[in-house]
Amino acid sequence: MNKIGALLGYGPQSDIRHEFSKFQELGLTCCQLSVWDVENMFTPEKAKAAREAAEEYGIEITALWAGWTGPSAWNFTEGPQTLGIVPEAYREMRVEQLIRAADFAEWLGVTDIITHAGFLPENPGSPEYLPVLDAIKRIALAYREKGKWFLFETGQETPVTMLRFIEEVGTGNLGINLDTANLILYGKANTVDALEVFGKYVRNTHFKDGLYPTCGKELGREVALGEGRANVPGIVSKLKELGYTGPYVIEREISGDQQIADIASAKALLESCLAGA
Ligand code: MG
Repeated sequence: MNKIGALLGYGPQSDIRHEFSKFQELGLTCCQLSVWDVENMFTPEKAKAAREAAEEYGIEITALWAGWTGPSAWNFTEGPQTLGIVPEAYREMRVEQLIRAADFAEWLGVTDIITHAGFLPENPGSPEYLPVLDAIKRIALAYREKGKWFLFETGQETPVTMLRFIEEVGTGNLGINLDTANLILYGKANTVDALEVFGKYVRNTHFKDGLYPTCGKELGREVALGEGRANVPGIVSKLKELGYTGPYVIEREISGDQQIADIASAKALLESCLAGA
C-alpha cells in the first residue's frame, strides 16, 4: 500500500496534535516534519511531542526536513550566496546545525534527514567545489555513525551535478528527496527525464507542481498539483518502474483553506495515478 502524506511545518507556535488531526481528517497516512527554527525546536521535548501526536493520529513521520538559520533568498540572483551550505559565510554554522538534526531525528524515531544543500557547483574545477563536497561529507559521515541518511532536496542544480555529488561524497548513506516541481521552477530539468539520471537514489518525495521561469532572475511559479508542467502520471509511472516504494508526500506552498483543498485534490490525483501505474 502506497503511503500518501504531506509536508508538515513544525515551529514554536505549532499545535502539533491539531496539525496531525487535520492530516487524519484528510485521510493522509504519513508526513515529513519540516523544522526551520532549529535553535528552538531541536530539543528532546519537541521531538517527543511530535512523535506522540503522530502515533495518536496514526501518521508515520517518514523523514525530518531540516532547515538552517541565516538569510535565504529563493531566487537566482541572491540564492547562490544565501542558500544551504554552499555559501562560505554560513557554511560552518549550517553544517553544525545539520549535524545536530541527526539527534532530533533520533528522538523522533526517523532515519532520513532532508535539506536544501544550496546551488551545488556545476563545475568540478571551481574553487568552491571541493570545500562544498567536504562539508557534505562531514555531515554524511556524522549521520552514518548514527545510522542516518542525508537526502538532497532536488532542484537547485542539474540532475547530473546532484548525481556527481552523491558519487563523489561516496559515504553510502546519501539519497534524494525528489521535489517534482523544483527542477522546473529552477529551470534545471524535466522531472521525468531527471529520473533517468538519478532515479535510483530517490528515497522520498515532494509532489508539487509548477511552471518554468520566464525571466532570468526569478523562479517559475508554483501551482496546484496537476496544473503545472510536472507530469504527475509520468513521474508516478517512472517511479514505479524504478521500484520506488517510498512515501508520496504532497507539498503546497500556500496556507489556509485553499492549501487544504489543494492537498485533498492532490491526494485524489495521486491515488488515480497510482491505481493506473
Ligand atoms: Mg520541496
